[in-house]
Amino acid sequence: MKEEREPSQTVTPDWSTKDISPLFHAALDASVSGIIITDNNLPDNPIVYCNKSFERISGYDRKEIIGHNCRFLQRDDREQEMRKKLRDAVKEGKHANVEIRNYTKAGELFWNELYISPIVDDAGKVSHFIGVQNDVTDRKKAEQELHLQRELMEQKINERTASLRLSEEYLKSIVETVRESLLVLDSDLKVLTANEEFMRTFKVNRSETINKKLYDLGNGQWNIDALRELLEKILPTNNPVLDFEVEHNFPHIGQKLMLLNAHRIELEGTYKDRILLAIEDITDRRAIELRKDDFLAVASHELKTPLTTVKGYLQYATRLLPKDSDAKIIDIMDKANVQLDRLNRLIAELLDVSKIQSGNLEVHREAFDFNNMVEEAVESMSRTTDSHEIIFSGGIEGSYVGDEAQLSQVVKNLLANAVKYSPKARKIEVSLSVISKYIKFSVQDFGMGISLNDQKKIFERFYRARHIQQHFPGMGIGLYICEQIIEKHGGTLWVDSEVDKGSTFSFTLPINTEENSTA
Ligand code: ADP
Repeated sequence: MKEEREPSQTVTPDWSTKDISPLFHAALDASVSGIIITDNNLPDNPIVYCNKSFERISGYDRKEIIGHNCRFLQRDDREQEMRKKLRDAVKEGKHANVEIRNYTKAGELFWNELYISPIVDDAGKVSHFIGVQNDVTDRKKAEQELHLQRELMEQKINERTASLRLSEEYLKSIVETVRESLLVLDSDLKVLTANEEFMRTFKVNRSETINKKLYDLGNGQWNIDALRELLEKILPTNNPVLDFEVEHNFPHIGQKLMLLNAHRIELEGTYKDRILLAIEDITDRRAIELRKDDFLAVASHELKTPLTTVKGYLQYATRLLPKDSDAKIIDIMDKANVQLDRLNRLIAELLDVSKIQSGNLEVHREAFDFNNMVEEAVESMSRTTDSHEIIFSGGIEGSYVGDEAQLSQVVKNLLANAVKYSPKARKIEVSLSVISKYIKFSVQDFGMGISLNDQKKIFERFYRARHIQQHFPGMGIGLYICEQIIEKHGGTLWVDSEVDKGSTFSFTLPINTEENSTA
């Protein structure tokens, strides 16, 4: 709003009849503002004076201006609100400040910031009006532009808000659908949000949960030092909490096993320093897994006993065969023996798995000739395969202290896999060496190779690459057992592989200088 000036109270000469002094004239013409004087005593309040700037702004010549009412400046654009304000001011003999659309002689619109001020004569009557005007078109344009921009901005904000609301609802519906309990925590680990599943699982309501510290929930089930340490590190380090198990006697729901995963969340920089905590009830799943493990232990144990008996009978029967027996019968007995050995190995592997699961896989450490063990494994594998040549390079001296039977099992397993999974290749390369204070053993094949994705999983129990399942026999437990055995010996087992080029399985075993003479 403009500050309105007080109307001038000075009584001035009659501009229409008397000459102004040349000095005043020059002063008025020097003004950048257009100045006019109208005579209120004459009909239709005509212009009786205008300065040079008014001529410049309006584009009219003085002689086209003098004698006219100001309204000629508005041409046909008469429906302007500001005109009424002007008319009222003139009628009431008051001053007024308006911004009005005017047109130059050439018909161009210009915004006129007009101030009119009445001149009062000795009798207290308004004799004249002085009008001071400035062309503010540029400012007006900028204002209009700004206005437009603001409107556009507002529209954008509205659209964005609407889309945010939509995505918020979308996210909310996902959060509510998930069958996992979810909590959002602030940096003090206070609960900001909890989904319905959380309420259902823990049989609690919102008032017991929201705005409460995580450690104060229930009967303090999450107040565990190790969990505290992990959760408190999430925000400063961005390290998530992964698969943290909490077994606890929870209020309302009793003894349960919960799996916790927590991550820092940040939504486009808005929600900084928040933690999403996902809690999964794995009590039933764990019970089923345990039952499966128990079944595996019992089944493999139960199978082993009759198998050993059958094997004994078969060996006895073979010995009882007369020397001149039919070659066919001898062949059948040999084949039955081979298959029984195979069955025996499979069952032994299943037993190993269940021993690993229950933590009962024992390592019997004794000094043995590692080089010899590898040579024997290579020889035995060479005897049973016509398809591949196994080339052994390197070798080590001295003895190594470890479980010979288990390590031999690892070497044989890796060799058997190399043969099995490279049916079109002709050779397999085996190498053995001592590097620094480690024994290094490798088996390289030139077969089908293993995709990167499968490489991460093949050491898990029962995992088999999908595409090979129908074509190659196996249970997916060999590598799992191998890795556990190597780990028990303090070593590492790994694979380098490229699909269609082949795989190299290697392990290293640390040599304890006090126990081993290989060092
Ligand atoms: P199994 O051979 O009985 O399936 P393993 O635990 O020994 O079980 O191997 C797991 C999986 O790893 C195999 O099913 C196969 O997909 C893959 N694999 C193991 N060795 C090789 C190899 N030398 N070349 C390609 N794939 C292999």
